[in-house]
Amino acid sequence: MSKLLEVKNLTVNFNTAEGIVRAVRGVDFEVDKNQVLGIVGESGCGKSVTARAVLNVLASNSEIMNGEVIYHKNNEKIDLLKLDKDGKEIRKIRGKEISMIFQEPMTSFSPVHTVGNQIMEAILLHTGLDKKEARQRAISILEEVGIPEAQSRIDDYPYQLSGGMRQRAMIAMALSCEPSLLLADEPTTALDVTIQAQILDLMRDMKEEFGMSIIIITHDIGVIAEIADQVAVMYLGRVVEEASVDDIFYDPKHPYTRALLKSIPKITKKDQKEKLLSIEGTVPDAYNIPSGCTFHNRCEEYMAGRCDKIQPELIEISPSHKVACLLYEKEGD
Ligand code: SF4
Repeated sequence: MSKLLEVKNLTVNFNTAEGIVRAVRGVDFEVDKNQVLGIVGESGCGKSVTARAVLNVLASNSEIMNGEVIYHKNNEKIDLLKLDKDGKEIRKIRGKEISMIFQEPMTSFSPVHTVGNQIMEAILLHTGLDKKEARQRAISILEEVGIPEAQSRIDDYPYQLSGGMRQRAMIAMALSCEPSLLLADEPTTALDVTIQAQILDLMRDMKEEFGMSIIIITHDIGVIAEIADQVAVMYLGRVVEEASVDDIFYDPKHPYTRALLKSIPKITKKDQKEKLLSIEGTVPDAYNIPSGCTFHNRCEEYMAGRCDKIQPELIEISPSHKVACLLYEKEGD
């Protein structure tokens, strides 16, 4: 498969009144064409900041300290972080070639414009279609994402749609210009499980139909199982394990990944009697990052004198599996 996006050594800080938060600390990953990369981890591990940094749409108190985001466009390689973040070039890529959907569509849609007008605005901005053609395209994409009576619902305001319908409409807006990459930040978190399953099915269908890649950000490893091909597990601003979805679920290496997997509820009769496990402790304070391996205060395999002193690097343990844990590094490495 050919590469679509490479993120290298991405490092993002936030300047706050309480001090500097090192939100993303040297993250590397790649996404191939027509691949779904799932980025998973608990709240506060830097997943969303990583996604926003790809498009350089971070909060004003943040600063990208280091890194490259290489977008492979035809035969060209463009470092998105080198483009003026408000300039013409990045604006041509945002929304057209790389689009983003968020957890809460009400924050993405303007409440004072109809859903149709907002989808049409994206189409008019990025394609050569006229108003009538853009409306027709908006209707057909709303139909494709499963909005019933799209001919009339196109003139609804966001508040007139249910939560699931709003999420579908937001996906329609993101797909309206047939992007190469969709960044989906917790797209199903606010939805009930039935609608969540429908939205994941829809994203999978759209990926096949448009041949696009997806980066899905979630705290829910069950969502990853449903949709991802490749998985990056993040903890406190770093990728701690990266592998195919099968390796993550059937041969997890990092103690944090194993703990995340144990916290998934099971539905077999035997498991119904077992207590649901949660990961001991909480993610440490990002103002005060622990020394050594940042997971050491919660890890069941903690090795005193090593894990609290040495920060493990992300190393390749097989051609398709990387892990950052001292269990896989020889002493003295
Ligand atoms: Fe646990 Fe040590 Fe591995 Fe960190 S380096 S995950 S503390 S065993």
